[in-house]
Order: sequence, then C-alpha cells, then structure tokens
Amino acid sequence: MSSDYYQILGVPRDASAEQIKKAYRQLAMKLHPDVATEADAGDRFKKVAEAYEVLSDPKKRDLYDRGGDPLGGGMGGGFTGGFGAGGFGTSGFDFTNLVDAMFGQTASRGPRSRVRRGQDALVRLDLELAEAAFGITKPLRVDTAVLCPRCSGSGSAEGSEPVTCQTCHGQGEVTHVQRSFIGDIRTTQACPTCRGYGTVIPDPCPECAGDGRVRSTRTINVKIPAGVSTGNRIHLSAHGEVGPGGGPAGDLYVELNVAPHEVFRREGDDLEVVVKIPMTAAALGTEVDVATLEADLPDASAETSTVKVSVPSGTQSGTRIAVDGKGVPRLRGSGRGQLGVTLLVQTPTRVDDEQRELLRQLAELREETRPEVTVQKHGRGVFGRLRDAFAGQ
Ligand SMILES: [Zn+2]
Ligand SMILES: [Zn+2]
Repeated sequence: MSSDYYQILGVPRDASAEQIKKAYRQLAMKLHPDVATEADAGDRFKKVAEAYEVLSDPKKRDLYDRGGDPLGGGMGGGFTGGFGAGGFGTSGFDFTNLVDAMFGQTASRGPRSRVRRGQDALVRLDLELAEAAFGITKPLRVDTAVLCPRCSGSGSAEGSEPVTCQTCHGQGEVTHVQRSFIGDIRTTQACPTCRGYGTVIPDPCPECAGDGRVRSTRTINVKIPAGVSTGNRIHLSAHGEVGPGGGPAGDLYVELNVAPHEVFRREGDDLEVVVKIPMTAAALGTEVDVATLEADLPDASAETSTVKVSVPSGTQSGTRIAVDGKGVPRLRGSGRGQLGVTLLVQTPTRVDDEQRELLRQLAELREETRPEVTVQKHGRGVFGRLRDAFAGQ
C-alpha cells in the first residue's frame, strides 16, 4: 500500500471534494518550491500533489479506497522512492490546473481601471482648551491631491486620448510559461508597459504627468463642536485626496489635540483649578472670585469671566469646592461639568512686629504655643486631594 493520501492532505476519509480541494490549496501554497524554505518542502510538495491527483478524481479515489493503486501498478512500495520528475511528467497530471487552483483568482482579472478612489487623509489640529470646551470654527490648511484643472482627471494632454497597449493588447496582463522539474508553470503578471491598465497615454497632460491630479494647498473651515477632547476625530466626507485618474476623493479625518492650560486641568467634563487663600480668610471664612475658562474667550464679559465661591470658616488647605455648571459642556448630552476649586491655604511668611505679637497672643489663647502634633495617615483626606490637584499642573 502506498502513502496515506488522506493523512498527507490532513482530511478525514469521508472528506468532500471541496474539503480536499481546500486542504490541497493550502498545502500547495505553503510547500510550493517558489515560496517554501524547509529543506524537505520539495518532496512534501510532490506527495501532496500526488495525493490530490488521486483524491480529486472520483474514479482514482474509489480505486484507492478499495486498496488499489490508482497511479498505475508496479510501484508497489509506494511513491516515496520511485516518484521522480520523469514519473510525474508522464503521469498525465495537469499542471496548468494546479497553478490555476493555486492562483485561481488571478487567472482572469483583465485590465484595471485608471480611475480609483483617493486615499483618506489624517491631519492634526491643535486647539486651546477654551476652543475645545466651547466649540469653534477653525480654518485648516490642507495639502492634498486635487483634480488636475488642465485635463480634468483624464491624464491626457489636450486633444489626445489613451490608446490600447501594444504589449498586452489591452489585456493589462502578460503570461509567462516557465519550464520546471514539475512541469510547465504559467505565471500571469501585470503588463510592464501599461502597468496593468490595458492602455497607455501617449501624450500625458503636462500639468499632472498623466496622474489626473495635482497637489494643492487649500484652506477649509472645520467646525469643532463644544466638549471635544484630545484624540477626538472630525470626519469630513470626500475632503481627502482625489483618486488617480480623477477618482472620487477619500475622506479627511481631523484629529484634535488640546493643549494643556496653564491654570485649568481637565478631568473629563470637569475643570480643576487651585486657588491660594490667606490663612486668616480660611480661618474666618470669605467669598472669593475665581476666574472661569470663559475668561479665555474673545467675547468674555466681566459677568462670565469669574464665579463667586464662598469659603466657609475653618477651611483646610486642600479642600475642594465644587461649582456646578462651570466645567466643560458635555459633547454628548447637555449641561456642563463642575468647576472644582481646590483651596491652598497660605501661611504668612513675612510678618511685622505687630502681626507677630497678634499671632503669639492667638497661639496663647488657643494653647498652641507648644502644640502636640498628630500624625496624618496615608490615603484620602485633604492632603491626598491637594496632591491630586497638583498632579499634571
Ligand atoms: Zn492633468
Ligand atoms: Zn499593456
């Protein structure tokens, strides 16, 4: 009995013709001498071809299944030793079919069109935080391919037209037949003269050299919705590159990059700001005016530029006071996030004699001249919040 053909192809005994064909194609692609690198690939390829020859033919497969030798008797010991190039050539195996089976989809592709869709383009647009938060229409310079104004995309000079390629006679491809130890191998490739188009442009447009498009810089106005953030993309349909041969334009994607702000830190839809207040104000309580992000807008009014924040007496350094509705407008949905105001209590550094005396009296009254210290634990609390507030500043 010769080699187990089912095992060679890796299919079950009851495999369908389709399964056998598929298994064979995959193995042939992998083991073909033109692509395989393993030393024994050539031998394995021959075995696979042999197995396929038998199992793809219902008559030969039937004979093989009943224990016969469908590739013509006398070879009893199997093909391992006796199967050479000569034997293969005379076995009647059709190599054109093999190559067609392997590269079937390329066998009849014909000439390709000169007209293709243009590529999508990606450009970056830098925004200030206020622009991203409140939205803006920004001019954007785009360097891209546009339709050639001289030939309107045809690629031919005025009064001329593409003509049929003489190398491939309009087929767009040429076929080479190569003799090899396993038989004739046909390879089809794009015609080198016309690069697969089937036609050549004898007199190319001087403006675009036959491409049908030229590079051009133009300015488009991009509408940025309120609430965008870094990494968001604006999709502008058909604003990308015009395709070769005047093909339809691709799309333009504008990727947004929001610059860090020197005062505000953005956390989703919230804005965070750190405000310094004097120790006395923190102890006694007060009301402070805090600048809003609106102050960055060209049309900011005194009313919108600040917000009043009341600081209760006894406020600790690191306390965060949330002001609703003064954060970033929500990109999806309505309303705005919070403005988080973190208070940094300032200890006086320079005090005159009178102030020093008052502080000393206060310390005495509070019995704090020799205070007992307590240890702050890790984790949340005002110190943790203060640290968070400063992160990324
Ligand atoms: Zn042109
Ligand atoms: Zn050609």
